[in-house]
Amino acid sequence: MAVYLDSAATTPLRNEALEAMLPFLRGEFANPSSPHAAGQRARHALDDARARTASALNARPDEIIFTAGGSEADCLAIFGLCATSRGSQARFITGAIEHHAVLHAADVLRGRGHGVTLLQVDADGFVDASELEHVLAQGRKHGSAAESAPALVSVMHANNEIGTIERIERLAEIAHRHGALFHTDAVQTVGHIPVDVKALGVDALSLSAHKFEGPKGVGALYVRNGLKPAPIVVGGDQEGGRRAGTENVAGIVGLSVALELAVRDVRAQAASTSELRDQLIDGALQIPRAALNGPRRERLPNNANLRFDDIEGATAVLALDVTGFAVSTGSACTSGSLEPSHVLSALGLPARAARSAVRFSLGRDTTKADVERLLSSLPGIVEKLRGLAGTLVPGGGLSRTRE
Ligand SMILES: *Cc1c(COP(=O)(O)O)cnc(C)c1O
Repeated sequence: MAVYLDSAATTPLRNEALEAMLPFLRGEFANPSSPHAAGQRARHALDDARARTASALNARPDEIIFTAGGSEADCLAIFGLCATSRGSQARFITGAIEHHAVLHAADVLRGRGHGVTLLQVDADGFVDASELEHVLAQGRKHGSAAESAPALVSVMHANNEIGTIERIERLAEIAHRHGALFHTDAVQTVGHIPVDVKALGVDALSLSAHKFEGPKGVGALYVRNGLKPAPIVVGGDQEGGRRAGTENVAGIVGLSVALELAVRDVRAQAASTSELRDQLIDGALQIPRAALNGPRRERLPNNANLRFDDIEGATAVLALDVTGFAVSTGSACTSGSLEPSHVLSALGLPARAARSAVRFSLGRDTTKADVERLLSSLPGIVEKLRGLAGTLVPGGGLSRTRE
């Protein structure tokens, strides 16, 4: 079995979540909207999962909207909150290193005539609070139309490629002071570091079960009480009329169990994972001409993103795979042409440096022995690839890692 160091892409389903899901994949298949006893049992399971999910985030049950994953939660927050009674031409302000679910939603809004602003980040990936302040203040100054245009700000809680944990409390406070709403994509943080929607001060927050050992294809959007995002999936009146469609009962139950367990152990797990992460980073930095992407502190406990001069990250991923390590790169790679990652480019790295990155993301199962094994193989792999520098990635048909 390969050592799995790609937890930022997805995690295995934990056994307790699977066990909790099985009854709803077998005999307890009724529709929670059905009036009969079996339907009411499914309804009860759904209500219970919603209460547990809410409590894990310090929210209320009616503030949770279950979705089909993190991407849908992001889109519901962005399209739904930009389209409410606050005006159809709301401004959208987001960061340059957001997940594509957010950046592509921004493109769609721009195409519909909304004002869209991308906030730059510093060399460690931090959004600059004073730039947000400036952008929001500018919007207010410009005449009556812009003045009446409400704004939604969306900044991710932590970045999936480089692990930077943004200073959300501060950014949300600035947004609110200027009358804007604030959403955060917390897909990489929920279950990995403590997440409390009240303490963060956000109006909306996205999460996805498969990033914390729950099932794929199920997520949730927290929306502060009193706000009603316009639905992007219409039909039935499930989820309080905010997201139509028969509920994924088994998936939602699995999400709530995985979340509850992850949150129960979050501090101890974060402490032990970050110890292994630091061991990995320190060891990898012994390799000549290696550097860390993202900050040393204020970083996800499980993320180590490194670049090695004069190698192609995509080639290193293949070489590591052959050696028994499942890792990935942030670089987009389609039909043989290597596009540097938008995240690494936004840090100010030249394309060549941005293409030399490899992301190692640790999981609950990662051991010290795994990290030691990696650190004994990595220097030789890097050295060998540098010897081959200039060689193209074989195959040319690499597909891009998305998460
Ligand atoms: C994985 C991920 C998503 C997408 O979640 P899905 O459930 O796979 O749709 C969104 N944002 C971030 C930061 C992610 O890491």
